Amino acid sequence: MEPIEGPAPSVMARFRGRRNKATELALVRLLRRHQLSGWRRHHRLRLTARTVPNTGASVPRYCEPDFVFGKAKVAVMVDGCFWHGCARHCRLPTTNSEYWVHKIARNQERDVVVAVVLKRNGWRVVRVWEHDLKTPERCVRRITAALEKSVERRAQAKTKRNNRSPFIATTSGRA
Ligand SMILES: [Zn+2]
Repeated sequence: MEPIEGPAPSVMARFRGRRNKATELALVRLLRRHQLSGWRRHHRLRLTARTVPNTGASVPRYCEPDFVFGKAKVAVMVDGCFWHGCARHCRLPTTNSEYWVHKIARNQERDVVVAVVLKRNGWRVVRVWEHDLKTPERCVRRITAALEKSVERRAQAKTKRNNRSPFIATTSGRA
């Protein structure tokens, strides 16, 4: 693959920082207001798989979801409309458009790979677009739903473990 020439520094400055701090902070306030706790910001998760099964896409060594609910295994990614190529709001600069197309495509590819690997490891991934925060209640509902499912799953796992007692005869693993 040919290296693609980067944009001029002046253009780069407009888009500095992949993270959308304002969006993240808005979500922080939202989580606090709804008393959702147990999360850490930018907690680094090590990914042990090197390639994605079937596609063979290479997996980055780490990912840093914007919000990690470690115990619940829920990762929340806040995607900036520009950097992650939102179909509705991503407007590419007219200069060096080839560079930006490539860069954003790479980000999107990485988003997909990371989500696949996390899900295979039992995580729930909630993606929140920057524009989704215009309807904050919906974002909270999606996060809460993921957390609730995780609680249910853990409760089920616990029941399963308890049922494994040699003193309780179970005919089927499922109720
Ligand atoms: Zn958008």
